[in-house]
Amino acid sequence: MTPPESVQAMLADIAAHAREAADFTRHPQISPRVLEAMARVPREAFVPEGLRGRAYWDSPLPIGEGQTISQPFIVALMTDLVRPHPRARVLDVGTGSGYQAAVLAELVDRVHSLEVVPRLAREAGERLRDLGYGNVETRAGDGRRGWPEAAPFDGIVVAAAADEVPGALVEQLRPGGRLVIPVKGGPYAQNLLLIEKGDDGGLDVREVLPVAFVPLVGG
Ligand code: SAH
Repeated sequence: MTPPESVQAMLADIAAHAREAADFTRHPQISPRVLEAMARVPREAFVPEGLRGRAYWDSPLPIGEGQTISQPFIVALMTDLVRPHPRARVLDVGTGSGYQAAVLAELVDRVHSLEVVPRLAREAGERLRDLGYGNVETRAGDGRRGWPEAAPFDGIVVAAAADEVPGALVEQLRPGGRLVIPVKGGPYAQNLLLIEKGDDGGLDVREVLPVAFVPLVGG
């Protein structure tokens, strides 16, 4: 059992980090609803056993296969940026440990999560099922193609850096929907982008924050 003060410390770190990063993000505060959702997700269940003591540190951790579970602040920011409303259907690209999918599952109606490494996809699927997240569907596959049968999505969250924004993901976004994705290039190695699709289908693109994600690789 994790002492509740660990989760509370993580939430305080996330809030402080959000304030510090606000010069870049113009998003100084993570919604209470998102923080409350993160308080309910046992992050220690998503990290390797030997690293559980660090599960509530505001840092990424290795999860095997050369991959990482994202930093809690980044998960909070990306989750908040897609505006996860209770009736939303969200696509999560790069399931990894399944942590981001679990946080989204606390907030929205349905989560579809794609992971290119089959072993990670299988393990995350089992973990999410064991934890009772019945509204998450996981699949092994290339997230750059999205999940056409489950589209359109109100939100899409991508946890690996793309060379350019995959057209399929933009297509699978509902008008009014939001896509959050790290993209390579620019003065910083990677930039987190927030892309909003207008009701007329037009795109509004904003650079949110310099970031460091693993690359989005071919399936
Ligand atoms: N959201 C994850 C973070 C995982 S790191 C979590 O909460 O733990 C990013 C993940 O993206 C890695 O597991 C990596 O294998 C996966 N990935 C990389 N390229 C991908 C692609 N083309 N399609 C789907 N997943 C991909």
